[in-house]
Amino acid sequence: MRFTGSIEQGALVLGQAAPGSRVALDGVPVMVGPDGRFALGFSREAGPSAELTLQEPGAQARSLRLAVVPRSWDIQRIDGLPEKQVTPDPQTQERINRENALIAKARAQSVPKALFESGFQSPAEGQISGVFGSQRILNGQPRSPHSGVDLAAPTGTPVIAAADGVVMLAEPDLFYTGQTLLIDHGLGVNTVYAHLSALLVAPGSHVVKGQEIGKVGATGRVTGAHLHWGLSVGAVKLDPMTALKLTPPSTTLP
Ligand SMILES: [Zn+2]
Repeated sequence: MRFTGSIEQGALVLGQAAPGSRVALDGVPVMVGPDGRFALGFSREAGPSAELTLQEPGAQARSLRLAVVPRSWDIQRIDGLPEKQVTPDPQTQERINRENALIAKARAQSVPKALFESGFQSPAEGQISGVFGSQRILNGQPRSPHSGVDLAAPTGTPVIAAADGVVMLAEPDLFYTGQTLLIDHGLGVNTVYAHLSALLVAPGSHVVKGQEIGKVGATGRVTGAHLHWGLSVGAVKLDPMTALKLTPPSTTLP
């Protein structure tokens, strides 16, 4: 079995097992492609160790204990947001729940093979204005950790697909994320593009790495124009920067 990527909190790690293998991470089944490839997501809170179970065809199931390298996270304070957006009223909360269900449904569907053969690239040119995992304190109230990377860029800046994939969601007006795209890259891996000012692709469209899919904007809950870029394996939110570092050489584990 081989791994590409470093096993640390918030990381996307690719694995290679014998074709026909069954894989589980901490008891949760992992999608395995026909070539034996699979993707693992280690959450912000993962560790200090994780258990990978591997059942290769014709062999006994075995279990590997993986050490998950811890990371430290920033604190990010954002003040001056409208109170309505910090503590949603019941009606808004209902809308948010509906939209979260829509996103969860889009994330739950993925083709069982890797579409990201040519790797990942940053989806926009811009300064990093927010990192993954930072704890947001909105108007003094702690909220969920930041689930992606923010790239500051003027409205209208092209947004490109980070890797080959299929558009699973193209929503014009989500409460938090405004105009939003979600792309499936196979094996459960997906990326999200939020706060856009234009959507140039529709659900079901096949996109290739580097293809323009939208424009940077300031829709949804924002304080300025930027692209929020998210990466997940299934529902596990990951640091998109870890996808950019996924280059050989890979590590072989016993
Ligand atoms: Zn963001």
